[in-house]
Amino acid sequence: MNMLSRRAALKAGILIAGQLMIVPKGLYAAVNASASGKEGKSVVVIGAGMAGLAASRRLSRKGYDVIVVEGRDRPGGRVWTDHSLGTPVDLGAAWIHGDSSQNPLMKMVHQYGLSTQATDWEETWLFDIGYGEIEDDTYEEIQRKAESILEGIYDRQQDAGNRRSMADALVPIFKNLSGDPIVKRGIRWWLASQIETEYASDFGDLSFKHWDMDEQYSGDDVVVHGGYSQIIDRMADGLNIKYGHVVNKISQSADGVMIVTDQGVIQCDRAVVTLPLGVLKQGRVKFEPGLTDEKITSIGRLGMGTMNKIALRFAKPFWPEDAYRFGLFNSSTENLIEYFPMTPYSGEPVIVGLTRGRHARSLETVKKEDVVQQALTDLKFMFGSSVPNSAVESVVTSWYSDEFSRGAYSHVAPGASFTDYRTLAKPFGERIFFAGEATHATYPGTVHGAYLSGERAANEIAGLQSANMGADEAKEDSR
Ligand SMILES: Cc1cc2nc3c(=O)[nH]c(=O)nc-3n(C[C@H](O)[C@H](O)[C@H](O)COP(=O)(O)OP(=O)(O)OC[C@H]3O[C@@H](n4cnc5c(N)ncnc54)[C@H](O)[C@@H]3O)c2cc1C
Repeated sequence: MNMLSRRAALKAGILIAGQLMIVPKGLYAAVNASASGKEGKSVVVIGAGMAGLAASRRLSRKGYDVIVVEGRDRPGGRVWTDHSLGTPVDLGAAWIHGDSSQNPLMKMVHQYGLSTQATDWEETWLFDIGYGEIEDDTYEEIQRKAESILEGIYDRQQDAGNRRSMADALVPIFKNLSGDPIVKRGIRWWLASQIETEYASDFGDLSFKHWDMDEQYSGDDVVVHGGYSQIIDRMADGLNIKYGHVVNKISQSADGVMIVTDQGVIQCDRAVVTLPLGVLKQGRVKFEPGLTDEKITSIGRLGMGTMNKIALRFAKPFWPEDAYRFGLFNSSTENLIEYFPMTPYSGEPVIVGLTRGRHARSLETVKKEDVVQQALTDLKFMFGSSVPNSAVESVVTSWYSDEFSRGAYSHVAPGASFTDYRTLAKPFGERIFFAGEATHATYPGTVHGAYLSGERAANEIAGLQSANMGADEAKEDSR
């Protein structure tokens, strides 16, 4: 595999005025000749997130010559443990969903000697804007009623039209809610938490027919002590990763694949594309020839949700230290933030607020101090005057504006289906393979889905190679 600097590419006539020109065949072959010497075995993996790392490790183990090209200056993509608050805080994915031994991430947790802690969802403290702390029997009533609404949803999903959204199903139900205003606000909070926060989207953006049809591993939702990035760092160890290389174009021909980055051009036999759905939707990375209509349609149809996190460090906890989550019922769930104190995991006086969908995106257009104030106002409703007027330190994410993610994770939008994930996963020609959470139809939107998709793409390449070798051997035999 060979990496050409922009200058060398220009000299070689490949780049003219920043444009990739049609590469003369002879020259193309010359570039290829300086490759690793492993005939047909050079692979560029685009993206050093979980999918890219999983693919690269598997391909390297199978003897491929792999370069990972990553736009950021760190591995992990949407897995990102930040240390700026003086303690590890996961600003991307935080949970391993399902800590059973089937979950491949748990195998790595054990292999790397890491420890995890289950989130005790029962230890959720709830408050109402007008009433204060919610008593157990009120919460039980809320939960019972909200669960029966969900049962009704599940019953009607199979026969539902493909274009209907969760809002179509829920808005009439919300309008007809009667009785105690606290219970009504609680039901709406409960459903927004279960449906909207979970899928990083608004009711209107989620398919009614396909909502919650993805599968889950059994076991608890667990947090990695010390941060999720520890898994990433160990996976990245030993791989050839080119950080700060932004891919602009991926060109495929009968002879190979050319990856055009802002740092130069790389030529290889095959490529694994793990660009997030949000980045693919934007269309900034060009494919040559262009992607199939089928793929373009699926990219357009699937939804990309946004989740943002507001991490606040305080001088000391003002909350019950064994609580795992706080929620505030309000007249509207529009600006709902769910709060996760870090005290049960690390003992540190840090709270992380989770926002989703439209609200999460809107916060990216607001000054950081104002976002922090929104969170502090909520916390004051819950914990009164013990809440200070400012946080000692804070971090607020912008996953939607982030040019390397353009959102948090995918979901099935109205009009889409799980088939769209399978379409995204299909190889493009013989040389370009796709991985990433939005290519896994069973576990989309998750870190373990991303991991499995990377392994699948690596297996596809290896399978093709051995099929080709088999065909070549058969040709030899028939001579
Ligand atoms: C706030 C938040 C909370 C989440 N919570 C959870 C959770 O608790 N549990 C869970 O399982 N999942 C969670 N997720 C989802 C999970 O993080 C993702 O599904 C998973 O990490 C995706 O991995 P990936 O490899 O498919 O994509 P990514 O991690 O996005 O990797 C793609 C890589 O490609 C790089 N890239 C993009 N464009 C270019 C370019 N032009 N050139 C070069 N490189 C480029 C990116 O920088 C990135 O490193 C969360 C996500 C977010 C954002």
